[in-house]
This record gives sequence, C-alpha cells and structure tokens, in this order.
Amino acid sequence: MATKLVHPAAHVHDPFDSTNPPLYQTATFGQPSATENGPYDYTRSGNPTRDLLEKEMAALEGADRAFAFSSGMSALMCVTRLVKTGERIVTGDDIYGGTSRLLAQVVPKVGIEVVNVDMNDLDAVRRAIESGPTTMVMLESPTNPRLQITDIRRISEMAHAKGALVCVDNSMMAPVFAKPLELGADISMTSATKFISGQSDITGGILAVKGEQLGKDIYFHQNAEGLHLGPFDCWLALRGIKTMALRMERQQENAMKMARWLEAHPAVTYVNYPGLESNKGHGLHKSQASGTGSILSFATGDVNLSKIVVEKTELFKITVSFGNTSSLISLPCFMSHASIPAEVRAARGLPDDLVRISAGIEDADDLIADLEEAFEEAMAATGWHSKNGGGGRVTDGSASLMDAAARREDELLRRIAALEAQLAGQHNVKSPPR
Ligand SMILES: *Cc1c(COP(=O)(O)O)cnc(C)c1O
Repeated sequence: MATKLVHPAAHVHDPFDSTNPPLYQTATFGQPSATENGPYDYTRSGNPTRDLLEKEMAALEGADRAFAFSSGMSALMCVTRLVKTGERIVTGDDIYGGTSRLLAQVVPKVGIEVVNVDMNDLDAVRRAIESGPTTMVMLESPTNPRLQITDIRRISEMAHAKGALVCVDNSMMAPVFAKPLELGADISMTSATKFISGQSDITGGILAVKGEQLGKDIYFHQNAEGLHLGPFDCWLALRGIKTMALRMERQQENAMKMARWLEAHPAVTYVNYPGLESNKGHGLHKSQASGTGSILSFATGDVNLSKIVVEKTELFKITVSFGNTSSLISLPCFMSHASIPAEVRAARGLPDDLVRISAGIEDADDLIADLEEAFEEAMAATGWHSKNGGGGRVTDGSASLMDAAARREDELLRRIAALEAQLAGQHNVKSPPR
C-alpha cells in the first residue's frame, strides 16, 4: 500500500514529465472545432487533475470507478440520489452527526423512508431490510464516536438478497486499512477531509463504486448537481495521499499506546478502541480490516471531569474532525454530534461525558504526559480523589506525574547550569575591538 501511494499507476499526459501532477485550475477547455468535442470541455463534467485523483482512488479501493466530491456529505448526498420516492434506506443508530442530519432532515422531504437500526443486532437489521421497500443500506464501521463494529459481509448479503445496494462509510479506516468493496459493499465512501488530506487543508469526499451502471448513475448525479471537488483541492488530495500510509501507521501506534494508558487509568470508566482485546468488536474488526485506526473514545462518568481534561491538554487541539497530523480531542455530544437531538443521543447510548481522541503523529510519550497532567488537574478540580477512596490515595497517574515533574526540574537545572557555563565563558573572552 505504501509503495502504491507513492507510485500511483494513473498518469496524465504531460510533455515535461513533472514530478508532481499538473494542476488544471480551469473551468473550461477549448474544443477542436465547432462540431467536435475534446476529452474535456467543462470542469464540472471532467478535469484532468480530478481524473488523476479519481483513478488513483479507484485503484486503491479495488473499484471500477471513483468520484471526487466537494465534501464527504455531498458524496453521501449523491448516494441518496440513487433512492427513489417511496423507497427505504436502512442505516445504523450510531452514525456520523452530519449523516444523521442528512438522513433525518433532508432525505425524508422527498418521500424516502429512513429506518435507523442497531447494526450490531443482525436480526433487527434483517427485519428492517425485509419489512419494507429497501433499496439502500448505509453503514459505518467502526462507528463514530462509539467505535462499534458492523459486520459488513453479513449485512451486504442480507441487502443483496433483497436487491438493495450497500454503501459503507469508510472514512475511519480509508483504503489503507479497509476495502469495503472486497467485503461485499457496492459503494465505499471516504471523507477526503480526514486521512486523504491528512492536513485539515481541504474538505472532500470520494465514492468508489463497483459496476458500470452504478458508475454511470453516480457520474450523472455528480455532474447534474455540480457536486465535484475543485481542481486545486484535488491536487492537495493527491499530495496528501502520498503520505497516507506513513501517517496512518504512526497515528495508529499512538492511538494504541494512549488506549492502553487510558484503560489503566483510575478515572476512566471504559475505553472504546477496536485495537484493545477487551473491545467487543475486536475479533470481527480484525476479520474485515488490516488496522485499527487512530480514533478512540473514553468515558469518565463525570461530564465536568471530561470537559476539564479536554480543555487542559495542550498538544491536543479542541476540534471536530480526525486524521490530522496533530492530535485532536473533543466532546462529541457538544461538537460533531450536537446536531443529533439530546433525547436521541441518550437513547443511542452516547453519553455526554464521552471524550473522543484522534491521534496525530507526535511522540506518544509527549501525548501521554500531556493527558496525564490534564487528568491530574481535572481530578483535583472535581474532587475525584475524595470521592474515590478518601483523598490520600496516590494513584498510578499522580505517581508518574510526580516523576514527570522531577524530570522537568532536572531538565531546568541542567539548562541553568549550561547557561551559567556559557556566560562564564563569555566573560573570559576579550571583547573584540569596536
Ligand atoms: C467527516 C465525516 C463525514 C463527512 O465528511 P465531510 O468531508 O466533513 O463532509 C462522513 N462520515 C464520517 C464517518 C466522517 O467522519
């Protein structure tokens, strides 16, 4: 995968063999004559820089064709265009906030029925698919932010038995770690805003599809509705893709280390991360993906404590989204998932004290030391120690915090000594004549 990303098979004709792909920042292309068409005429319908990105993504996903959209949401919007009035979409009950809004507030306006179901309950999924005119099943795995694992193979079989299409939102894994089309899905959606860009510099979405007819249908809607990704953003995505495997492997390593540290922390009630053996979906996930990704979430049982942890970390930027080179931290119920009504969140088991972390590519020890300090401050501010064991207890967390403080003091003393030596040296040197 890492080699493929650096040496993509797709090329654009370039007389100068430029190292980076040419950027066709243009809306229109001249035509050979009044009655003949060239390969490109108008960027909404096709652009060479976008073609490169689309061909490369099709190759990475094992798809017949791929399409680049202005955002993950416009890609998903295009998927819902394949469903007609009177038909049914079956989807999960733990889905990305934007997808939840699209399916709850936009799609039903044209008379499409949306059924949310617990994707871990396969009998319920089967009933939801079979009890109505289902033509589309839209699922995520792992889900965000609860990191639940969905059985893509089994659900694809159920959907196909009913003649319905399956769209898997692969944003959390990207083709580096999972290829939903190989598991039976018809469409794989990846938000390019996340791991493909990797730098939080664009929004974009990719649909990779199987079959000629599906490719034609998606292309028709992309062009008819003007949902495409602009040339410069395609160019940035192409640049991001080159380092995607490198970034994702490091991010995953950091996520694993943080998940293990959090799992052992006394103030953490549970950790959601498919890389932990203790996670319910661990085995299933391993059977359908080659990595466990860089997103994890955890709960503390105290929304105030969670809020202080989020705010006191210094290396973690408080932001929605994930897949950035920098580590990110958020309270999903107040941020990315705030568009889901509170009572729906409660019914779906999305607690307000849930903290989501997206691991970046920093040094893992620095990230853990930062979390450790934030926890210590949060626990002090919320009286955690007196509520949990009488106050005098020195936890593992505070013991290693004291170690960290001692290390910092040593480092300071060393720097002062070095400065003093430097100053002493300067006094011994005669000033040069002015
Ligand atoms: C971010 C995201 C989307 C939407 O993508 P945008 O590029 O933000 O429009 C959809 N699904 C998942 C799982 C995401 O994380």
